[in-house]
Amino acid sequence: MTETTAAAGGGPSYCDVSLPVPLDRAFTYALPETLRHRVKPGCRLLVPFGARKLTGVALRLHEEAPKDGVREALRLLDSEPALSEEMLALGRWIAGYYCAPLGEVLRSMTPLGGEIRRGKVYSLTDRGRDALRQLTLATGATEDPAVQLMGLLEWRPLSAAYLLKKNDDAARLIRGLEKKGFVQVENVEAQRDPFRAPSAKLRIALAGTPPAGKYRKRERELLSYLELHPGSHNLKDVEAAIPNAGDAARALGRRGIVALKPELSPVSTQFARQPHTLNAHQQRAFDQIRAAVDSRTFHAFLLHGVTGSGKTEIYLNVIEASLAAGRGALLLVPEIALTPAMAGQFFHRFGDRVAILHSAFGDAERAEQWRRIRSGAAGVVVGTRSGVFAPVEKLGLIVIDEEHDQSYKQEETPRYNGRDVAVVRAQAAGACIVLGSATPSLESRFNAARGKYTLLELPERIERRPLAEVEIIDMRVEFLETRRQAVFSRRLLEEIRARLECGEQTMLLLNRRGFSTFVACRSCGERIQCVNCAVTMTFHRRDRRLLCHYCNHAERVPTHCPKCHSEHIYFLGVGSERVEEELHREFPEARVARMDRDTVTGKRAYETILSGFREGSYDILVGTQMIAKGHDIPNVTLVGVVSADVGLGMPDFRAAERTFQLLTQVAGRAGRGELPGEVLVQTINPDHYAIRFSAAQDYAQFYEKEIQFRRMMRYPPFSALANVLVRSEDQQEALRLAGELGALLTPPPEELKILGPAEAPVARLKSEFRYQLLMKGASRRALKSALETVRRRAAESRWPATALVIDVDPLSLL
Ligand code: ADP
Ligand code: ZN
Ligand code: ZN
Repeated sequence: MTETTAAAGGGPSYCDVSLPVPLDRAFTYALPETLRHRVKPGCRLLVPFGARKLTGVALRLHEEAPKDGVREALRLLDSEPALSEEMLALGRWIAGYYCAPLGEVLRSMTPLGGEIRRGKVYSLTDRGRDALRQLTLATGATEDPAVQLMGLLEWRPLSAAYLLKKNDDAARLIRGLEKKGFVQVENVEAQRDPFRAPSAKLRIALAGTPPAGKYRKRERELLSYLELHPGSHNLKDVEAAIPNAGDAARALGRRGIVALKPELSPVSTQFARQPHTLNAHQQRAFDQIRAAVDSRTFHAFLLHGVTGSGKTEIYLNVIEASLAAGRGALLLVPEIALTPAMAGQFFHRFGDRVAILHSAFGDAERAEQWRRIRSGAAGVVVGTRSGVFAPVEKLGLIVIDEEHDQSYKQEETPRYNGRDVAVVRAQAAGACIVLGSATPSLESRFNAARGKYTLLELPERIERRPLAEVEIIDMRVEFLETRRQAVFSRRLLEEIRARLECGEQTMLLLNRRGFSTFVACRSCGERIQCVNCAVTMTFHRRDRRLLCHYCNHAERVPTHCPKCHSEHIYFLGVGSERVEEELHREFPEARVARMDRDTVTGKRAYETILSGFREGSYDILVGTQMIAKGHDIPNVTLVGVVSADVGLGMPDFRAAERTFQLLTQVAGRAGRGELPGEVLVQTINPDHYAIRFSAAQDYAQFYEKEIQFRRMMRYPPFSALANVLVRSEDQQEALRLAGELGALLTPPPEELKILGPAEAPVARLKSEFRYQLLMKGASRRALKSALETVRRRAAESRWPATALVIDVDPLSLL
C-alpha cells in the first residue's frame, strides 16, 4: 500500500474555500490535524484572508499542495454542511447565470452569518510597548490622552466601541497611533454569545435532569421552578416569578444544564380560516397539480386566477398533498405580503410543521428557523425571496405567489430573481412548481403559451362575485370643466362621500410618497436636485424637509432659489402625504390612515395599519403600491386611483406592464365581500392600452398587445437582456471605463445588439456617475459570452470592485 503520510495521518490536508469577495476563484487552505476528518464540502470555515478573517464555504478537499505557500484554516463553524450538494450546485448555477462571484452567492444562501460578530480590535505593537514604557518612565503618570489609550491597550486588545466609551476622541487618537506604528488593527469575527439576547427574546427549558452538584441559591430556585413547570418558558416570564433568574439562566445555559433558545415571534391565529370545499375551477387546477406532485417529476404550472378567485386555498391544498406524499414544500411570497395574518393561515393548517423565513426577523430567529428546516422538523416553509434557499428536505413542491412581483428580484449582488431560481431548483429536485398570479409577468405567460408551463386558469371570483366596475375619469376634461387643478375629481369626491355616509370603506392609491414631488423656482425654472443624485428632491411636509428618495439625503426647505435667489419657490406634483391632507380638508370627520414607506417604518407597522383598517378603525386607507398587494378586506367597496399616470412616464420598457399590473391588482381590492365594488381611475392618458385593458380587467387583450410590442422591439421574452453599468465618483473615470467597454464590444458580437454606452436614466446616484450598456441577445449563449468578455476586461485592467455592475434579466433599468 502506498499512501501519502498526510492521508494516512487522517483525512485530506487541503481545502478549497469560496469566500465572499468579488473575485472569481476559490482559495486553498491547509487543514489543521484537528479539522481533517470533520470538514465536508458545504461546511463553513473561518479562514485568514489578508489581515482579515472571513467566513467561507468549503468546496473541495484534496491533497494538492499549492505551490506558493498556504495558510491554515482557523475554525470549522458547522458539524454538518450548511449547504447540501444540491444547494452548492444551485449556487454554482446562480454564479454562472447571473455573472456573480460564487463566494458572494454562497454567502447569501446561508442565513447563519448573524452568528458571527464582526469588528475591529486594536492592540499595541512591540514598538508601541517600547514607546509607552519610555513615555511613562520619563513622566510617570500622564495626562496625554493618547498615552492613556496606549495604557489601556497594554493589557489586552480592545474594540473601537470600548475605546470610544473611554474617550470621545478615541477614533482620531487611534489613527494617529496607527500612523506612528504604535497600534495595530485587526478585523475579527468571533462567535456571538447566543445567551446575550434580552430575556424576552429567549425561551428556557431544562436540558435534562440537572446533574447533582454545586449550585448558587438563584440557580437552585430556577431549577426547581423548571422542574415544577415542565416545558419551555419565555425567560422574561420566569424572571417575573424569580427575580434575577436571567443571570442564573445564562450561567446554567453556559454549563449546558438548561437549554436557551431564541423566542420565535408570536403568530396571529386571528385570521385562521377553515378549509373550504374547492369549487369546480379550483378542483380542476388542484387535481392537475396533485397528479404532477405524485408523479415525482419536474413540472411547472402557471396558475392564472383573477383577484379573489381563491388561489391561496389551492396553495394550501397542494402543499398538504405534497406533505401527504412525504415530500417538503416551499411557498414564496412577496416581501410585503408576509404578514402575521398570512403566516397565521399556514400555522392554522400545518401547525408546527411550518417554518417562516422573514427578513424582518432577527439573525438568531432566522438561524433557528433554518435549523428546524434543515433537521426536517419543518416540512413547510413560507418565506420571501431568499427563502428559495431554504434547506427543505425531499422537496416536492414550490409555490410562488404573485409571481410577477418585483420584490423577487434582488437589487444587489448577487442579482438573482428568486422566482427563476426556484424554477431551476425545482427542476434539479424533480419537484413541481406553481407560479400564481392575477397578472402574470409577460415572460411567464409566454412560457405557458409555448408549452414550457402548463396553464391553469381560474376565470372567476369565488361564489361568482363580480369583479368591480371600473370607470376611467379623464382629468383633462375635469380641468377644462372646473378650471381647477384638483387632486380629486368631483366624481371621486362624490363616491367617497357616499361611502362615508353608509359606513363602507375606501382605498385610495397614489404610487408616489411625500407631499410635493418637486420644488421649483418660478423665476428661473430651476428644480431643486439632490446633491448626490441627478433626481429632484421630494417635499415631506410632516418632517418639514426635502428628501431624496434614492439616497435619503435630506435638506431644509429653501426660502430662496439656490440659483437666482428669487423668493418665488413653488411646490409641484402630488404625493400620498398630500392626498391624505386633501382628504382631511374635504372630509374633516373621516378617519384616514396612510400607508407608505414614511408611515410603515417598524417591523409591525404595516400589519398594525392594515388590521386597524380591516377592523374598521378607519374609513379611508391612502397609500402607495403597498395597499395593492393581496389584501382581502370585505368592507372595501370603493377603490380610487388618484393618478394612473405615475409609472407610465418611466424610461423603462416594462412601464406599461407595471401600470397594468398595479391597476388590476388595486382594482381587485374592491368588492371582495358580499357588497359589490366600484373603482375610479383618474388619468390624463385615458386611451393608453395599459389603462384601458386594466379598466376592463382584460388580461388576455393586454397580453396580446404587449407581446406584439415586445416582439417588434426584441425585448424579453424575445431576447435575453443584461444591463452593464459602469460607475465612479469621478465622471471622467466613469466615461473612460464605459468607453473602454464600448470599444471592446465594437463591432458587437454576433446575435447581440448593444445600446450605449450612454448616460443611465439616473445619471448620478449616491455621488457616483453612471453609464450603461444595454445588451440584447438573440441567444443566451451569445449574451453570456459577451458578459464574460466584459468581466475579463475589468479584471485584467484592475477596475475597482464597485465600478462594474452586471445585471442579468434586469427588472429596473434606472
Ligand atoms: P386570491 O388569492 O385568488 O385573490 P383568495 O385565496 O384570497 O383569492 O380567496 C378569496 C376569498 O375567497 C378568501 O376569503 C377565501 O377564504 C375565500 N375562498 C377561497 N376558496 C373558497 C371556496 N372554495 N369556497 C368559499 N370561499 C372560498
Ligand atoms: Zn431661480
Ligand atoms: Zn440623492
